[in-house]
Amino acid sequence: MGQAITVVGCGVIGLTSAIRLQERGYNVTIITRDLPPKLTSAVAGAYWYGGELATHSSRHRWSSISLETYLQLAKGDYCGVSTFRMLEVFGSRVEEPWYKDLLPFYQRVAPADLPVGYADGYWIEIPIVETPRYLAYLVERFRQGGGQIEQRTISDLHELAHDHANIVNCSGVYARHVAHDNFVYPMRGQVVKVDAPEVKTAFSDDDAFTYILPRKDGVVLGGISQKDNWDLEIDAEVTADILRRCEAVQPEISQAPIIAELVGLRPGRHEVRLETEQLTDGCTVIHNYGHGGIGYTLSWGCAADVVALVEQSH
Ligand SMILES: Cc1cc2nc3c(=O)[nH]c(=O)nc-3n(C[C@H](O)[C@H](O)[C@H](O)COP(=O)(O)OP(=O)(O)OC[C@H]3O[C@@H](n4cnc5c(N)ncnc54)[C@H](O)[C@@H]3O)c2cc1C
Repeated sequence: MGQAITVVGCGVIGLTSAIRLQERGYNVTIITRDLPPKLTSAVAGAYWYGGELATHSSRHRWSSISLETYLQLAKGDYCGVSTFRMLEVFGSRVEEPWYKDLLPFYQRVAPADLPVGYADGYWIEIPIVETPRYLAYLVERFRQGGGQIEQRTISDLHELAHDHANIVNCSGVYARHVAHDNFVYPMRGQVVKVDAPEVKTAFSDDDAFTYILPRKDGVVLGGISQKDNWDLEIDAEVTADILRRCEAVQPEISQAPIIAELVGLRPGRHEVRLETEQLTDGCTVIHNYGHGGIGYTLSWGCAADVVALVEQSH
């Protein structure tokens, strides 16, 4: 049996970290208050997003590693990852994106072919994750690998320090409490899922924070980002506003029945925290949180660095 490691958190960040550690032979237990789908990670759209939302110097490397992993996962219909064509549009001219050569498809849109009101855009082929199915797949993969999941709430990491020598902290926005990190704040998001099988391509207007994501479990419409808002209740006005913006792009959505409205708290921070802390004598913590609106995009890359940090700490 390999060395024991405890991962706090069972969202996309905790699960990918746990799986990569397990694959290196560690004996991993996840401690978590919530199980999928009752967490932020289940609410996400979720598409691989190469835009410059993160500031960390490793962001492109992390995103590239994740992209490669998702493209592999998308090869079969077994875990909820598929690739779709997305039209990404902009109000002004933009540079070529840094990731264009990594994608299966990239094409600049000719000005005459852009929707009215936009100055630039491109078609890209990107992975989109059907989040409830994908999280269930990750949980199953972790359990199949011998991993244990213990459902319990901790007050903070010090509570574990006595009995756990190696901890990986993937508590998302709740790192504010669990790690006493006041740099962490919620970026409240809300999405609407509709039944619109005729929608086959994705759309994103970053400036307006409007996106349309076709998934097998429905079309996800978004979005919004409300800083410092911890409210987990559905806001009917936000739903109406999202529908109005998405219908303006794709009018057939106005006829589509609503399947679900969902709220989640993105873990905001000025920069992802991925580093080692010596919590007490004999207890090392590797923090992996603060991924904001791109936790799916960064997850596999960050998980690779968690493994590297664990190995350096021994
Ligand atoms: C509407 C919306 C759309 C999004 N779209 C995208 C997208 O298109 N692409 C993309 O890349 N990202 C997207 N994101 C962002 C992404 O969802 C997050 O960055 C990611 O889910 C964060 O994952 P996490 O594992 O850190 O946090 P979480 O999923 O919140 O998991 C945190 C875990 O910590 C556990 N925990 C917390 N406190 C305690 C405690 N005290 N004791 C024990 N356990 C605890 C929780 O139970 C949970 O298991 C979106 C987010 C939202 C809300």
